[in-house]
Amino acid sequence: MVSRILMHVGPSVANYGVLSSAVAPNLGFASPEFNQAMKYSLGQLREVTGADESYTPFIIPGGGTAAMESVVSFLSKDSNVLVVTNGVFGDRWEGILSRYPVKFKILRAKAGQAVPTNRIASELMEGGYDAVTITQVETSTGVRMPMKEIAAAIRPFVKLIIVDGVASIGGERMNAAQWNIDICLTASQKALGAQAGAGLLVASESAMSLLQNPSISGYFLDLRNWAKIMQNFLAGGGGYFSTPPIGTVFSLAESFRKIEVETMETRIARHRTCSEAFRKGIIEMGLDVVASEHLRSNTVTGIYLENTDIGQFLQAAMARGVEFAAGVHPEIRDRYFRVGHMGWIEPAHIMIALNAIEGALVSTGRKVEKDSGKLAAKTVLDKIIMA
Ligand code: PMP
Repeated sequence: MVSRILMHVGPSVANYGVLSSAVAPNLGFASPEFNQAMKYSLGQLREVTGADESYTPFIIPGGGTAAMESVVSFLSKDSNVLVVTNGVFGDRWEGILSRYPVKFKILRAKAGQAVPTNRIASELMEGGYDAVTITQVETSTGVRMPMKEIAAAIRPFVKLIIVDGVASIGGERMNAAQWNIDICLTASQKALGAQAGAGLLVASESAMSLLQNPSISGYFLDLRNWAKIMQNFLAGGGGYFSTPPIGTVFSLAESFRKIEVETMETRIARHRTCSEAFRKGIIEMGLDVVASEHLRSNTVTGIYLENTDIGQFLQAAMARGVEFAAGVHPEIRDRYFRVGHMGWIEPAHIMIALNAIEGALVSTGRKVEKDSGKLAAKTVLDKIIMA
């Protein structure tokens, strides 16, 4: 039996120190240790999102979708929202916003592509939008948006810029304060590499001032209920609105400790090199990447696999030691699979993944030149190994 590596699109490659931090302590949510873990994690959340002290950080139970839905706290009755979507997770805003008394319009790109910056800007320029939602890395395709460029182009035309960084924060650059982004959200289990169970976000001062408006939120995810206790944690105290994901927060704090030691600069470079090596390897094996070349992310890659039973292929890869993810984008669902290279990804994982893909391709009857993918990847990975 082969032991398995998780290279799903999140959770992804495990770090046992981080995961086991969630189960070690027999500690309650009112303990000084928990208060300290929250204070530290809220501070580090500002660091990894490039938010400064004017931003309020939140850590709430749930995950990415909870963080997304909590953003309704900043909207009012009849707020007009532009939803920019490159795939399934951008589309999720439609599902969320349609439950609330707000208006929205959708700008959608084809699979593997991104809505162009000038299209977003011209739509917002026409006016009347209170908020825009943008997904930094679209997990259904691996497409990354040029967030700095987009934020600069649209800032004058919209009050609230909301970025879903669930598949990017921790592996891609995000400078919320410098780029003037109001809300940046993520989840514990993706590129931050901690246990699943928490949604995270930072909100600018101007976003926070909107919490004074009458609420259209439900009860649990109304950030008005969470804002005060986050301030208490930041001040070194504690607080309760609903039981927090205690283990996840300890795991998150350990993850942030490791990120602080590694530094975000080095961590992003590690993600970039591993993803470039991986893509070089699969292209060398004759496969095509879903995302257009200039839009490929550090954290997720979608790979076309035409005329193949994808389920069988994924099982063959699993038998060779790596779990990947199936496709989910409705336009191309049965024609591709996805790989997560995020969090604690290292060069060795890339080599093992390419080895499993080669073996699985051969088992489905494809011709692949032996070791071609690994040798191609090695030329990129050697750069960090030798550095
Ligand atoms: N947004 C993006 C970009 C995601 O990748 C995901 C999860 N795949 C979500 C939102 C939803 O997060 P969760 O599954 O933690 O609710």
